[in-house]
Amino acid sequence: MPVVCSCCAQARAMLKRPKTGHSLCRECFFWAFEEEVHETIVSASLFTRGETVAIGASGGKDSTVLAHVLKVLNDRHHYGLKLLLLSVDEGITGYRDDSLETVRRNQRQYELPLKIVSYEELYGWTMDAIVKQVGLKNNCTFCGVFRRQALDRGAMMLKVDKICTGHNADDIAETVLMNVLRGDIARLRRCTAICTSGEGEGAVPRCKPLKYAYEKEIVLYAYFKRLDYFSTECIYSPNAYRGHARAFLKDLEAVRPSAIMDVIHSGENLSVREGVRMPVQGTCNRCGYISSQALCKSCMLLEGLNRGLPRLGIGKHHRLHGKILAQQPLTLDEERKLKAVDF
Ligand code: SF4
Repeated sequence: MPVVCSCCAQARAMLKRPKTGHSLCRECFFWAFEEEVHETIVSASLFTRGETVAIGASGGKDSTVLAHVLKVLNDRHHYGLKLLLLSVDEGITGYRDDSLETVRRNQRQYELPLKIVSYEELYGWTMDAIVKQVGLKNNCTFCGVFRRQALDRGAMMLKVDKICTGHNADDIAETVLMNVLRGDIARLRRCTAICTSGEGEGAVPRCKPLKYAYEKEIVLYAYFKRLDYFSTECIYSPNAYRGHARAFLKDLEAVRPSAIMDVIHSGENLSVREGVRMPVQGTCNRCGYISSQALCKSCMLLEGLNRGLPRLGIGKHHRLHGKILAQQPLTLDEERKLKAVDF
């Protein structure tokens, strides 16, 4: 016998919500999902009327659902936001070029303006060229650092007030675990924040309206709404560490369904003992972007690529910052050490 929706008690239930276990019809699921995102937005005061908000759009399911839901909620609840799409072209042939086609279709479907910024135009390097030089071991470090700054630079070109990203509950729980496992206290403290403050030159406030949305529900929402999204994995995607955290979290979830939310709540409530030294945010002496060192991570990575010493940006080489800023050559010994370590 068909199960009836536990919300409207009229239509046939089409799914069991992973988050609550409720059996719902399609329309009640859409409503519940959207209104939970609305609740997240309102309770965290994510937006102010009249703001211009860029949605970080990759063409993947998370950012596609985010764009769709924000447009729906902006109309339904009269947020008064000017929404637009902001994409980053990392220069990955056979992956990003295809996913950007999806973003262009989304732009037409949702009638939102679209801006694409590329690594090539911002840094003079594509990820294809970076992988050729650094291989497939540390490529995601370059890509992640460059993407963060590229989004900020794109947002500044567009003069937006905020950037929204499609990070979901699973992503955030994985990040909490990764930061615990790495002992990265500074990131651990920041990673559960629903909105970063945007302190410092070059940083636009970022928020995560899908922070409490389960990945499984995002997939269900995209599927039942028949949203147009791109689901192929990046061709340069080793990202082994996140993969371990993800697999661990899935195992935990199998025995304790609330594991994702529990990990997020634990992360939110962690506090750093008094006296623990934390990095002090300043600005990069070369590009003016936020940095706790004389040179930001992005400038160090770029310097390493341009000198043919990609290891320069990986790990801690703070003592070389002064030399690099003064455009002094490295000694043969310094170069040898940077080349010697297995990359
Ligand atoms: Fe960039 Fe790595 Fe993500 Fe590919 S998997 S888009 S290289 S961060």
